[in-house]
Amino acid sequence: MILVLNAGSSSLKVEVFDPDLTSVLSGQVSAIGTHGALKLGGTETAVETGNHADALTLMLAALADAGFGLDAFSAAAHRVVHGGTILTAPARVTPVVIEAIRSVIPLAPLHNPNNLAAMLALQDRAPDLPQYASFGTAFHATNPAVATRYAIPQTQADAGIRRYGFHGLSYANMVAEFGDALPPRLLALHLGNGASLCAIENGKSVATSMGYSPLSGLTMGTRSGDIDGAAVLRISAALGEEDTDRMLNRSSGLKALAGDNDMRTLLARQDDAARFAIDHFCYWAARHAGSAIVAMGGVDAVAFTGGIGENANPIRDRIMGHLTCFGSLPVHVIAADEEKQIARDALTLIKADR
Ligand code: ADP
Repeated sequence: MILVLNAGSSSLKVEVFDPDLTSVLSGQVSAIGTHGALKLGGTETAVETGNHADALTLMLAALADAGFGLDAFSAAAHRVVHGGTILTAPARVTPVVIEAIRSVIPLAPLHNPNNLAAMLALQDRAPDLPQYASFGTAFHATNPAVATRYAIPQTQADAGIRRYGFHGLSYANMVAEFGDALPPRLLALHLGNGASLCAIENGKSVATSMGYSPLSGLTMGTRSGDIDGAAVLRISAALGEEDTDRMLNRSSGLKALAGDNDMRTLLARQDDAARFAIDHFCYWAARHAGSAIVAMGGVDAVAFTGGIGENANPIRDRIMGHLTCFGSLPVHVIAADEEKQIARDALTLIKADR
């Protein structure tokens, strides 16, 4: 069995996979640091946790009660949000890899420290359990320099200001789920609360809509998507850096346009603001799709994933409507499953280690 761990900003999610990648149990500790809850299988209990290490201790005890003591696992596998320029493939967790994840903290200050904390706490508890890590940015490491470089001075590029791209585990899972049926030039759209798209040529990312951070690209639930840097500077001069960050990441996007970031609610509403927000979402998804299609020199098929991509038929149809200039394209819907990809990566590395 593989234990997959995903330490978010205030949650710790776990999922247990058997060796044929079937999920057998999942759960999470939520609201870490306050009055939280531990869910596992069908049960839920209130818990108090100070930090991610506490949360892990509680979760390991709950897993043991459910019949999954630490010796049930052949490996643990972690989601790490940012791999920077150095962690470009899944890796066994070694002291060198831990140092590398630490060095990338400036690029993901809210996420990488929690991912590391879960790894180190588990290492304390189970020093002999092999651990692996998969990186949310790594799938886009194949983008050419012309796609990742911002046209700004080299000193800034050297300081790490470049495009990285995100949702990489979701795209990697999509490629794996297609298997031999993978179209050569695939336009992939991950449309959830966060939304991005990716040009996948022969299974490799060649362009993606998110950049230095997950803020850029498509109109999202609460993120603005692309906005001119000069506009950001002016907003920041008025509001200050922290409030600007909060505004662009948490109170923009669909929420700013229609007061709500839940696409289901917006589709059910019949007012002008909801209609405009949906128009904006679909128009900008298609505008960025055009750019990604150019990066691949054409397109053979489109695949949707994420809460909106999987469930919102009218949104898929609207976006495809904007893309009719590219001809009649096959449309696929694939369930987003980052945890499965993390388990798949770990199993591949375990096999290679043997
Ligand atoms: P996250 O990025 O937080 O993981 P999800 O992938 O779960 O988000 O996607 C959340 C979005 O999916 C919300 O906007 C939600 O309204 C939308 N969604 C989920 N189910 C449906 C549905 N049946 N119809 C339309 N939108 C849906």
